[in-house]
Amino acid sequence: MQEGAMQAWIESSPLAGGNAAYVEELFELFLDDPNSVPAEWRELFQQLPASEDADVKHSEIREQFRAAAKAKYKQVGGGELTSEEAEKQVRVLQLINAYRFRGHQHANLDPLGLWKQETVADLSLSHHNLGKEDLDKEFNVGSLQIGKETAKLSEIHAALESIYCGSIGAEYMHIVSTKEKRWIQQRLETQLGKPSFSAEERKRALKELVAADGLEKYLGSKFPGAKRFSLEGGDALVPLLKSLIRRAGEAGSKEVVIGMAHRGRLNVLVNVLGKQPKELFDEFAGKSSTDKAGDVKYHMGFSSDFETDGGNVHLALAFNPSHLEIVNPVVMGSVRARMDRRGCKDGSLALPITIHGDAAIAGQGIVQETFNLSQTRAYGVGGSVRVVVNNQVGFTTSKQEDARSTQYCTDIAKMVQAPIFHVNADDPEAVLFVAQLAVDYRNTFKRDVVIDLVCYRRHGHNEADEPNATQPLMYQKIKKHPVPREIYAQRLISQNIVKESDVKELVSHYRDALDVGECVVDEWRPMESHSSDWASFIDKDWDAEYDASITVDELKELGKKVTTLPEGFKLNSRVNRAYDERVKMAAGERDLDWGMGETLAYASLVKAGQAIRLTGQDCGRGTFFHRHAVLHNQTDAETYTPLQHVADDQAPAEIYDSVLSEAAVMAFEYGYATAEPHTLVMWEAQFGDFANGAQVVIDQFLSSGEQKWGRLCGLTLLLPHGYEGQGPEHSSARLERFLQLSADHNWSVCIPTTPAQVFNMIRRQQLRPVRRPLIVMTPKSLLRHPEAVSSLEDLAEGVFHNVIGETDALDSKKVKRVVFCSGKVYYDLVAARRKAKQDNVAIVRVEQLYPFPHAEMAEVLKEYQHVEDFVWCQEEPQNQGAWYSSQHHFREAIPSGARLTYAGRAASSSPAVGYASVHKEQQDKLVNEALSI
Ligand code: AMP
Repeated sequence: MQEGAMQAWIESSPLAGGNAAYVEELFELFLDDPNSVPAEWRELFQQLPASEDADVKHSEIREQFRAAAKAKYKQVGGGELTSEEAEKQVRVLQLINAYRFRGHQHANLDPLGLWKQETVADLSLSHHNLGKEDLDKEFNVGSLQIGKETAKLSEIHAALESIYCGSIGAEYMHIVSTKEKRWIQQRLETQLGKPSFSAEERKRALKELVAADGLEKYLGSKFPGAKRFSLEGGDALVPLLKSLIRRAGEAGSKEVVIGMAHRGRLNVLVNVLGKQPKELFDEFAGKSSTDKAGDVKYHMGFSSDFETDGGNVHLALAFNPSHLEIVNPVVMGSVRARMDRRGCKDGSLALPITIHGDAAIAGQGIVQETFNLSQTRAYGVGGSVRVVVNNQVGFTTSKQEDARSTQYCTDIAKMVQAPIFHVNADDPEAVLFVAQLAVDYRNTFKRDVVIDLVCYRRHGHNEADEPNATQPLMYQKIKKHPVPREIYAQRLISQNIVKESDVKELVSHYRDALDVGECVVDEWRPMESHSSDWASFIDKDWDAEYDASITVDELKELGKKVTTLPEGFKLNSRVNRAYDERVKMAAGERDLDWGMGETLAYASLVKAGQAIRLTGQDCGRGTFFHRHAVLHNQTDAETYTPLQHVADDQAPAEIYDSVLSEAAVMAFEYGYATAEPHTLVMWEAQFGDFANGAQVVIDQFLSSGEQKWGRLCGLTLLLPHGYEGQGPEHSSARLERFLQLSADHNWSVCIPTTPAQVFNMIRRQQLRPVRRPLIVMTPKSLLRHPEAVSSLEDLAEGVFHNVIGETDALDSKKVKRVVFCSGKVYYDLVAARRKAKQDNVAIVRVEQLYPFPHAEMAEVLKEYQHVEDFVWCQEEPQNQGAWYSSQHHFREAIPSGARLTYAGRAASSSPAVGYASVHKEQQDKLVNEALSI
């Protein structure tokens, strides 16, 4: 309120412009610390209405401020100013402001000195009508935190140059919060741009640069030409990361999860996480340590513990594919799971660090999506530290006008008002300084912060590449440029902190350590058990036994709990009707519908101590008005989630409507599910086909993460699917894509058709000691279909039937054809068959398409061994759905000599037609084809 009033006042005041800036400076100082302004100003500001009092009109505040400021303006620091002096004083304050805003544009950030920096007029004295004659004059420094209230202009100017135009370019004035700005100023300005580190800290930084450089050189000579995506040029990443971890540990963090792409990854693995070099060398030699498909070495994750002064910190480097930035939301999800496990709400116990390339952070939309998650209820992690290894080139693209439309690659971070610290990677002390600053900022304000480590890339995109072909001038410069450890060693030698011989010894000592092949990180510690226990899920397949029994009485009890609302809670009338029905269902007075079957599954799990986490667009209510898991009081808009009130000692039930994203949200949930096996993690698509906005998560993580990286994941995707005449984008969850990716028992793909099936499918997913993704084609019209109902006894059966045989009373001997189908079309087929009073066609539902349930199918088909005519009926076009991916399973299942034919839509490039009448025609035709013999 006060800040807003200030702004309004500045705009309208006769003191607008220079004088206003001065008063503003004072006022902001006062807001931060009332004692920091002279007494008479303090009295004035104290007369202003209280900031929290929203009832005070802006105009009133403005008026008071104007009057008071006018009266007091002539008094500065207790003295009188002439109008010329006052004007100069204000100009000095404007100069200070200009440096804070735009000093970074003159900062010395590029180690190669190739950046063409525009001259910023605001950063010259003359722009502010200040001249040489003013340099010796004493001015009030306003809120500039250089340890004194007044200083000569020459001193102020030198301080500003040093703070804002040295090796650190600080962008933070876009932040709205004065408190945060003042905090950053306090940290930057009091150091005068020259952070001081002890001799020990500096020697350690040198040692870390020696390690960064040493590993690359070693790999380069031992495995010439092999791809390693060297860090060289960005060597400071190693001391930077270690400093971030140390600082986080000192502040109490227990876990740090790191996400990064390939550049410098081997270096981080060996020199930060403590992977044994000999293991890496084996990987270079192509040795396999697993019977799984595996992945290239620069995608591999790693876990270890790292000793800090605040205790050991567990480190986890996330596995990631080549799709650079997609690992960011995965890291955030992993951190959120660890926070939840530790009961930490604010992120103080777990820190996410993501490492980006300059081309990717500006280029890939998932970066924006991840920033947008940062302060939300479902996805907040108390802020993250984002590091850009800015080597000023993406593969062969380096021209700024080709790579992005913004000045800095980091501009996207301004959307969440993250402070951005650009830092010259050839100045390790500046790097260490921003590392500490970043962690402290994140921990203090629980918000994202960005470090832009401006460096270069010594070789091509990989070591076999020729960068001179596309970046000739840059690489001529790089060739002559000394490596970071040489530059820093010279600096420390000149400061008498180390001797030339010490540096040589460090280099040879590191090389010898690599020869031995053992861990080279001093802080590495053997891993204590920080993670959830995955042991019970390792090497388990679908046949693993589990107990999902539940009684009708237990179900009734749960049903009561999830239909009991707080006194006076007023439901919307439609929701109320649904809840009235649920009360009857819980009492066994009527059959259960889909919403109730699903709700009881969740209730039974949380009661049994298994947490659930469900996110997705509109999942609290459900896109199709069926779930009503989060209720909204019509009187005061308060929400109530019955699943959170099932039992006093229940596990958490977290249900959140998600941000309007598929990729970041699904990736986040993947990260969560790979870090926590004891929570059933589910993502629901608004319509199933929208999941293709997250196709990279499905292809690169969900389908293949276990094969590539040995990482188990029980994430469940709920994907509304079904042909109901809603057009190309609301009919298909692209079942065919999931089936095409099905192999190695990587996941299960299910299409349940009854509430009992959905109940038992959900329970099976969490209770069976297997953690693999579950892909569910969920219904739309079946949510309210009068036939798609189940009894409490059906639920209590405790079994998900992978195949459901004929349920009408047909005489199997009369059956001449068996129709296989999955999903909603079953109800269309049954209705048509009953209408035609047909008794020679049996209908068999395949409720799990993958892994294909051969044994259950054989059991069901026992009574149809005389049948020679089998049909697969699907709603999807022939090139989609299950026909192409699963027909070999159907063929294997039918009696030898029998034939299998197809009844369904003709092949189509689009999933569905847009016209309801055409849809109906097609649907009737495929049902007829399936049934007519
Ligand atoms: P983290 O906490 O992610 O560093 O994991 C610590 C250890 O737990 C790993 O080294 C694995 O042995 C095990 N682990 C963690 N996540 C998984 C997972 N998704 N699947 C299998 N094992 C895991």
